[in-house]
Amino acid sequence: MSQDPHIAGATPMMAQYLEIKARYPGALLFYRMGDFYEMFFEDAEAAAVALDIALTKRGQHLGQDIPMCGVPVHAAEGYLLTLIRKGFRVAVAEQMEDPAEAKKRGAKSVVARDVVRLVTPGTLTEDTLLEARRHNFLAAWAEVRDEAALAWADISTGEVRVMACPAVRLGPELARLAPRELLVSETREADLAPLAEDAGVALTPLARTAFDSQGGERRLCTLYGVGTLEAFGTFGRADLAALAGLVEYLDLTQRGRLPLLRPPVREAAGGSMQIDAATRRNLEITQSLSGGREGSLIAAIDRTVTAAGARLLDRRLSAPSRDLSEVRARLQAVRALVEDGSLADRLREALRQVPDMDRALSRLALDRGGPRDLAAIRDGLRGAGALAEALADHPAERLAAAAGALRGFGPLIDRLAGALVDAPPLLARDGGFIAAGHDAGLDEARTLRDEGRGVIAAMQADYVALTGIPSLKIKHNNVLGYFIETTDTHATRMLSPPLSETFIHRQTTANQVRFTTLPLSEMETKILNAGARALEIEKRLYEDLRAAVLAEAAPIGAAAAALAGVDVAAAFADLARGEGWTEPTVDDSRAFTVEGGRHPVVERALKRSGEPFVANDCTLAESPKGAAIWLLTGPNMAGKSTFLRQNALIALLAQAGAYVPAARAQVGMVSQLFSRVGAADDLARGRSTFMVEMVETAAILNQADDRALVILDEIGRGTATYDGLSIAWATLEHLHGVNRCRALFATHYHEMTALAGTLPGVENATVTVKEWQGDVIFLHEVRKGAADRSYGVQVARLAGLPASVIERARVVLEALERGEREGGAKKAALIDDLPLFSLAPAPATPRPPPRGPSPIEEQLRALHPDELTPLQALAALYDLKRALGAGDA
Ligand code: ADP
Ligand code: MG
Repeated sequence: MSQDPHIAGATPMMAQYLEIKARYPGALLFYRMGDFYEMFFEDAEAAAVALDIALTKRGQHLGQDIPMCGVPVHAAEGYLLTLIRKGFRVAVAEQMEDPAEAKKRGAKSVVARDVVRLVTPGTLTEDTLLEARRHNFLAAWAEVRDEAALAWADISTGEVRVMACPAVRLGPELARLAPRELLVSETREADLAPLAEDAGVALTPLARTAFDSQGGERRLCTLYGVGTLEAFGTFGRADLAALAGLVEYLDLTQRGRLPLLRPPVREAAGGSMQIDAATRRNLEITQSLSGGREGSLIAAIDRTVTAAGARLLDRRLSAPSRDLSEVRARLQAVRALVEDGSLADRLREALRQVPDMDRALSRLALDRGGPRDLAAIRDGLRGAGALAEALADHPAERLAAAAGALRGFGPLIDRLAGALVDAPPLLARDGGFIAAGHDAGLDEARTLRDEGRGVIAAMQADYVALTGIPSLKIKHNNVLGYFIETTDTHATRMLSPPLSETFIHRQTTANQVRFTTLPLSEMETKILNAGARALEIEKRLYEDLRAAVLAEAAPIGAAAAALAGVDVAAAFADLARGEGWTEPTVDDSRAFTVEGGRHPVVERALKRSGEPFVANDCTLAESPKGAAIWLLTGPNMAGKSTFLRQNALIALLAQAGAYVPAARAQVGMVSQLFSRVGAADDLARGRSTFMVEMVETAAILNQADDRALVILDEIGRGTATYDGLSIAWATLEHLHGVNRCRALFATHYHEMTALAGTLPGVENATVTVKEWQGDVIFLHEVRKGAADRSYGVQVARLAGLPASVIERARVVLEALERGEREGGAKKAALIDDLPLFSLAPAPATPRPPPRGPSPIEEQLRALHPDELTPLQALAALYDLKRALGAGDA
């Protein structure tokens, strides 16, 4: 092997550092040195900035100072989190041997170190690094010939899924899953980078060989201990390739210690409602437009009481089902809990005591857990038992099935409960988690240790009596162990006979002298031995318990999933009872009928300010052509956008298996949900807003099938009036004639209301307002029919535009409307005739008095650019400039 020129001139430790670093390009190296993780060179410079910590130096390399910075090991998690959030990956290199071992090989030898883990956004398991109520997915996308698949896993819960996913579906699926990290073949890195950036996913390229479907299949069989994967379903080559990439990466980042992965589940394409990224953003399903959870649908309706329940709710809302029997089974469970409120309350009370078993289990599997994770399993399974009893033989299918999955952990609970103290420490390292009375050997060792401590306390009294020094103390520190301490005023007496025969001098500090005695050091050895033995026994017991838990990992995982399911059903029921929501009828029809529908987020916001929300109906009646479209007109601020979104959200909630904010709702299964707003500002992506609007509209017109529900809000707003109107017009015709879908179309182009007369599937609807003393009052009431006018001027007045502008606008509007009635030619004439500011009050700043043309103006008028040579033109410019200078002077 040829030596790296960098390594050639390095000290042995730097050589080791550089060698490890070379194996993890693209990651910061946390290099363990005693109680610190140190970083060097560019890593140190980058980390010092990212973590806002001091950059120092350590020695030299090739004649240059080596930049260094470090973080204390005990506080490393916080720093890791910051680095991961800022887009870094971190390779953690630990000391693989006791420094004393290294010394034995010679004074200059370096402690063996190796990377034990590569920390990346998609592979976190620590509670402190994770958001409890969100999944942390790692995804892998692979192509094999003309098939492609996306696989994803949450290693903190062990869930693994895979689905067919052609390149065009990758964007929407990433939007649905919001993984933290996406693995792709290095050959596709460049062209997928913009997509990943759009979805906010860290892109990690792997060698093509990582996505080998054949090797992958073998590897998966070994991983799951099966002869063939068919036990779990049928997987295509692309599925296997994507799964292979996932497993390869986990192997790499976890350094061979594979997390507990559940068998892969293949998600059928078409199993859930398709919702693309723009629609998700627009409907603010799990994130509001400002990026946070606050203000989103999920924030408004989340009443789950467990973290696993919150994660399941997120999954359900992100991917509402298209499977009728699935939706109905979920709704049945919610109904049962709406009807039996006391059962729901009892379940929720029990669920509140249930810790996050999924994540505890995965940490135990990765051997990154501790006694507290064992206690989480104990408490979780206890809770499961209580729920199973409450749900036994329940008539609702899902609840009965949950009861089945929650039962049968008695022996494991007893074992954990018998072994562990109530509230054990986080780490096994220092012991103290096994209950007294569980293990005779442990009890004996602990008694010896504790008695020893008692004996030492008694010794202190003896020595005080012996020396006559009342301030004499027996203390303990990590360097000396136990020692006797007096102030230096007693030094001479202690150091001379007869006391010096008993007390052996150990140390003199600034104003203390320290001693030991034979009985004290004997006692200390006993204590140390007993303590070490106790610790050893505890560690062995910990391993036994860990193994016992992992042996039941699959049923525990199933119980955790059942708990999450019950939590979500009970949360939906609680919401329904609290907010007066009702059960939707979901069927195979193409109906969409909502009576008294409300927008859950807007309603909540209004409630806070004490205003009522006006409920509205929406009936998309099927036409002979198949399309069912409402064309919604009405002034700005009337409530059009709110109405559109509330209906989309009702469809989404219904298929997620929730009750809906309406007095009554019938939702014929929606295959795809689209929502667009005209001229949304999207400067961040460097596209003109109108371009974005058109790209997104094109996506709908090209994709929507006759089971889609399309929400178009002011499409065409981003361009000139006639352009915009024409585009909106043609779009509506296309939706009606080609897509034949259900749609709500809000527009400020009144001209379009005429379409209802010619297209059988289009109906006009409007949001009503009342005019009162020239002001407009918003009633927020949607009714059939077209708006009589747009009230833009009135709204402008409400917004505080100066009175002069409002008056002027009224005059112009009247003239334009008169022109509209009297025909095109007349209109132009009328515009020309508009009285000049006749109604406007005198402008605030007086204009300068009118005067004759200036000399420069006259000079300009005399110029004929077409007749000038370039040189003459330049000369003329200089003349003008000079004249201007003269005038100024
Ligand atoms: P538009 O799209 O017609 O301009 P929006 O839907 O944006 O109007 O609604 C404007 C405001 O009116 C909202 O912020 C909300 O506060 C209020 N609003 C909308 N719909 C309702 C309603 N049904 N009941 C009460 N207030 C409403
Ligand atoms: Mg609007």
